Amino acid sequence: MKNFLYLFIAVFSISATAQLQSPEAFLGYEIGAQFTRHADVVNYFEHVAENSAMVTYAEYGKTNERRPLTYAIVSTPENLANIETIRKNNLINARLETGSANPEVAIVWLSYNVHGNEASSTEAAMATVYELITKKQAWLENTVVIIDPCVNPDGRDRYANWYNQVKSTPYDVLQTAAEHNEPWPGGRPNHYLFDLNRDWAWATQVESQQRLKIYNQWMPHIHVDFHEQGINEPYYFAPAAEPFHEVITDFQRSFQTDIGKNHAKYFDQEGWLFFTRERFDLLYPSYGDTYPTFMGAIGMTYEQAGHGRAGLGINTDEGFVLTLKDRAAHHTTTGLSTVEMGSKNATKLNTEFKKFFINSDIEYKSYVLKGNPDKLKALTNLLDKHDIKYGFSDGGNVNGFNYSQNKNASMDATGALVVSATQPKGKMVKALFEPDAKLSDPLTYDITAWSIPHAYGLDAVASKTTVAANGRNPYVKEINQVYAGAAGYLVKWNSMSDARFLAELLQNDIKVRFSEKDLSFEGKTFDKGTLVITKSDNRSNIEFAATVTKIANKHERKLHASNTSFSDNRTDFGSPDIKLINKQRIAMLRGDGVSSLSFGSLWHFFEQDLKYPVTNIDTGDFSAASLKNFDILVLPSGWYGSKLNDEAIDGIKDWVRNGGKIIAMAGAVRSFAGKDGFDLNQNKAAEDDDEKKEESKGNLTPYDQRERENVKDLITGSIYKTTLDASHPMAFGYGDSYYSLKLGGTSYQFLENGYNVGYIKGAPETVSGFSGVDAKEGLTDSMTFGEARMGSGSIIYFVDDVMFRSFWENGKLLFVNSLFFVNNNRFTL
Ligand SMILES: [Zn+2]
Repeated sequence: MKNFLYLFIAVFSISATAQLQSPEAFLGYEIGAQFTRHADVVNYFEHVAENSAMVTYAEYGKTNERRPLTYAIVSTPENLANIETIRKNNLINARLETGSANPEVAIVWLSYNVHGNEASSTEAAMATVYELITKKQAWLENTVVIIDPCVNPDGRDRYANWYNQVKSTPYDVLQTAAEHNEPWPGGRPNHYLFDLNRDWAWATQVESQQRLKIYNQWMPHIHVDFHEQGINEPYYFAPAAEPFHEVITDFQRSFQTDIGKNHAKYFDQEGWLFFTRERFDLLYPSYGDTYPTFMGAIGMTYEQAGHGRAGLGINTDEGFVLTLKDRAAHHTTTGLSTVEMGSKNATKLNTEFKKFFINSDIEYKSYVLKGNPDKLKALTNLLDKHDIKYGFSDGGNVNGFNYSQNKNASMDATGALVVSATQPKGKMVKALFEPDAKLSDPLTYDITAWSIPHAYGLDAVASKTTVAANGRNPYVKEINQVYAGAAGYLVKWNSMSDARFLAELLQNDIKVRFSEKDLSFEGKTFDKGTLVITKSDNRSNIEFAATVTKIANKHERKLHASNTSFSDNRTDFGSPDIKLINKQRIAMLRGDGVSSLSFGSLWHFFEQDLKYPVTNIDTGDFSAASLKNFDILVLPSGWYGSKLNDEAIDGIKDWVRNGGKIIAMAGAVRSFAGKDGFDLNQNKAAEDDDEKKEESKGNLTPYDQRERENVKDLITGSIYKTTLDASHPMAFGYGDSYYSLKLGGTSYQFLENGYNVGYIKGAPETVSGFSGVDAKEGLTDSMTFGEARMGSGSIIYFVDDVMFRSFWENGKLLFVNSLFFVNNNRFTL
């Protein structure tokens, strides 16, 4: 038995060094002959790591659907033996760790398949690792290559499994074939239908959160994000298009070009077409190219023709057959060419990397932020995800650009959060916090404003001098003791932490009220929106005090116990102005006609942020009759057209008149415009403009200027100041103004009979970002958030999508208010 065991070990270890297989040998098919399931991709990388001394492979997390997120580290055995030192020396070089080092090893990070249905790149990842360790070992002597074979496994498998199920054998190249037409929502996004290539900076998704942990431990010199574009556009690689963000250095620009020219050499050899310097710009900080760029890397985007349409092979409009084999070959070529450039320029990359992190000449040296402690906490949680350092001021006035006044003014900095832009990651700090990103060209791929102070609802000053941060964090973790003697508890209402507390109370069948009046009990005052949890409402629950206290402590909420229901100011606990909050039963539409991104952001919000149940109903299964078991219908942004035809609208109206509540987001608002009973009309200026265009008999805009001319109608994500009616329950927890992220020029008149909760009166005031002249003018006298009443029910309009990419933290409470506070006079039977 013993001998047998030795024999077994000996055989096993011989086979371990001798049996490295190519992807084709391991998988049983050539790369590009089949879409590989994610589990098989993981199996192949495990096989490579077991059979090569040049690869280690590890899991860095799990997706929502429990697929592993993984990365391989590829280098020589000598480098791998020394890998911790290499990694640390790189951080020392960037001053992110202390010590001395003079590193000369290039670190190249290849990220594949962030968009699940751009599925050729994960196939290329397998070919690339095999090529590197069997043919390109020389490059690895001074280079560490990190391969993330699939950034978005849930999306990739959604696409690959669907494709493998419907494809013909042999594959059908006709564009109309089923295998070229993905069903809703497609494989591009992750489980919650987020675009992970917009999530790097906000890190709202588990994939981003877990990836950033290892990314920040490594801080590569080159980062590549592999994508696919339309089937007719051959191949794009950086150098990128304008606008470039101004933090990008001359070296980063020129090295992008050097890498691009190296790719061009290989593509020209093979006779493959490509384009560069068009379309894909470097401004919005949350992409897989900009984020690494603002963190010191050369951030590269590669786009292969293909996408969710292409399958294993498809006819292009130009008459070629585009195949998965070719797509994977192109991505393999650029991946390898990038590693080659890293290796050839390792020393230069390291010296330039070091320089990038010196930020002594940055204009605004400190950002000082003040406001609700929960909001500051939410922001420090974000900074922690990026390993950005911060401190707190111990007092005094700071001068500089004041965000809420939109001009230079001072602010009392006592207890304020201070984020320094002179720290090594200062360029990212600038990109995230600066009042207004400089725009060299308004034709950008994405939104042009994201200023953190407005997104988090904080007062802020950008200071040109360094502000000391020696103070204490003012956030207090509340710990309440169980006190059964109270007639009730009051909890202030300001933040998502308060909202999560409420959601959990309702889930635990605790009866909760909210106040429509300012309150005063036992000498303490409370603003409108304050939660009131009374002994009277919960007298049948003997665990009441213990349960409320436990939940409050979990959410770090301060319970203000009052021994009496008798107020100091006439609004007692039993007042009709302190209303019971219903445990709302919420339905939401998904499926055809619904924006998958908007639906996904709300779905994620309910399940992962608010933690309150929602029932998702497919548009194909929806009718007004489906609403009888619900109090609220949420309509994500979308193009409802036939789904909300006259018959459907009539049915919905009956439900609303009987007390139902519709919450319509962004594009869904349009479905009610001009319809009887909804009190909603598009703004006249915008309407006139549309008519003008339709009536126009001619257009003398020169051919090559049309794109520029269209810019006048564009708002590509910019920040506007809106006025709030602070007395309306939808605005509880806010002041009398709100900075809103506008994503388009669609504009509605003030509601005539309903409540205009958020609006722009007179000419609009842009705070940040690009707006075309015509689009901006069209926002004059327009409603942003509103409530129209119908019978006992309501329709709530969110013209601006407060859930967009889930990063506008300060808008989320408006949505929660509309769920639980607005028109709350119906009692659940
Ligand atoms: Zn993509």
